[in-house]
Amino acid sequence: MTAPLQDSDGPDDAIGGPKQVTVIGAGIAGLVTAYELERLGHHVQIIEGSDDIGGRIHTHRFSGAGGPGPFAEMGAMRIPAGHRLTMHYIAELGLQNQVREFRTLFSDDAAYLPSSAGYLRVREAHDTLVDEFATGLPSAHYRQDTLLFGAWLDASIRAIAPRQFYDGLHNDIGVELLNLVDDIDLTPYRCGTARNRIDLHALFADHPRVRASCPPRLERFLDDVLDETSSSIVRLKDGMDELPRRLASRIRGKISLGQEVTGIDVHDDTVTLTVRQGLRTVTRTCDYVVCTIPFTVLRTLRLTGFDQDKLDIVHETKYWPATKIAFHCREPFWEKDGISGGASFTGGHVRQTYYPPAEGDPALGAVLLASYTIGPDAEALARMDEAERDALVAKELSVMHPELRRPGMVLAVAGRDWGARRWSRGAATVRWGQEAALREAERRECARPQKGLFFAGEHCSSKPAWIEGAIESAIDAAHEIEWYEPRASRVFAASRLSRSDRSA
Ligand SMILES: Cc1cc2nc3c(=O)[nH]c(=O)nc-3n(C[C@H](O)[C@H](O)[C@H](O)COP(=O)(O)OP(=O)(O)OC[C@H]3O[C@@H](n4cnc5c(N)ncnc54)[C@H](O)[C@@H]3O)c2cc1C
Repeated sequence: MTAPLQDSDGPDDAIGGPKQVTVIGAGIAGLVTAYELERLGHHVQIIEGSDDIGGRIHTHRFSGAGGPGPFAEMGAMRIPAGHRLTMHYIAELGLQNQVREFRTLFSDDAAYLPSSAGYLRVREAHDTLVDEFATGLPSAHYRQDTLLFGAWLDASIRAIAPRQFYDGLHNDIGVELLNLVDDIDLTPYRCGTARNRIDLHALFADHPRVRASCPPRLERFLDDVLDETSSSIVRLKDGMDELPRRLASRIRGKISLGQEVTGIDVHDDTVTLTVRQGLRTVTRTCDYVVCTIPFTVLRTLRLTGFDQDKLDIVHETKYWPATKIAFHCREPFWEKDGISGGASFTGGHVRQTYYPPAEGDPALGAVLLASYTIGPDAEALARMDEAERDALVAKELSVMHPELRRPGMVLAVAGRDWGARRWSRGAATVRWGQEAALREAERRECARPQKGLFFAGEHCSSKPAWIEGAIESAIDAAHEIEWYEPRASRVFAASRLSRSDRSA
């Protein structure tokens, strides 16, 4: 299991002496790689194409960088408390006092979800959800609690999976799973203020057999359902970008912004980077390079010296897009509607709507994360121009929240389409549909170095699409570089060995 590295006593402590390492990308993977390599005594510099650090951890501040107003998390927004590497760095960087509960989908009984009868409050949705769920079953001779389990599992999947993916998963909540659950007393798992929901986390944790009986496709998706609806998820009070910023402040090596890598040539003992700096293009010859840029971007670069298998994985790794649209509102109107936080499942084009806590000066307003979409749902929004997309989201959402139609309620809109963004061309690698063995084979191939060129980033990890995965891959890459012996010294060692062999 990946573990943060031990501190070295200084450069002389680095195995084989200090190495000069160039890291491409100042997202969390690049920053952790640099931080860990420096702790081991190596010399690091980071080159970043965009004009900011953090990559897919991006906090949009409506009053401008460093301003006191409300902010929206346009990238990563929550950390499952079980993500121990991420929590380790939060503690190490002195951010523990910023950790707050993250309230997620359906955590507030007053939040909404759609049904054939229109929007329902979570607290009153059970009867309708059960009726709708039971209608689709070949036999409805299940106990009421079993149907309640099926209905909430189905509702959670519907809220988290993109529409096209949901259809398959919905059919996976089948007879075998329900028969098993029917034999379990679900009374201890009833939850919610009206005790009309089933605590899926506790149920799956206590009954591994239930989880094992899920069809493979559903089983593989369950981690995400459980992570995203867990009650033990956290956030950083002053914004998730505190994590990359604190890390960057602890790195001694230079972090250069606005340096776009446009070509990578791998040679036996060096790696040459072609880098665009404004109007100039320069080449840099490096001893070691760690590439953390997403493969969606990497595959557009000029690459030489890569083996064919590596090129194949760079070109074939699948990414999903994601879109987030945030409204800066005059006031947190949802509080008057009884919603104190968490998220609604809005459906339609909007999909998920989050109510971040309004913790700052009330005069500065509050932020509503109006829409969060992934996969084909994000593609549908991305096909529209920005004004059309924002208007559609406002229109659909105002059916649930008519307060949005009040003049002056929406002060500003911020949107980010990660599929179109030049520096990511996608939100994250998705390996939901794959068998565990195939997932691991793909991960290994993504991470496999090419001579002095190493790879890190969420796509190289066992937890893709999470900060945790990016950190895991960064620690692995730092380990690999620490132990890597360049070809020249291998040849030198081999020739020494053969000479001593001869003289013996
Ligand atoms: C919408 C969204 C929501 C998410 N929600 C969560 C969440 O709630 N919790 C969670 O844990 N994770 C979440 N994630 C995932 C998490 O943000 C990522 O897994 C993680 O930030 C990826 O880090 P990385 O360093 O691998 O990649 P990146 O952050 O993408 O870093 C790569 C860096 O390389 C730079 N770069 C790209 N091309 C070049 C080039 N040619 N030259 C030089 N530099 C270049 C980029 O600008 C970037 O800074 C979310 C992601 C998205 C998009």
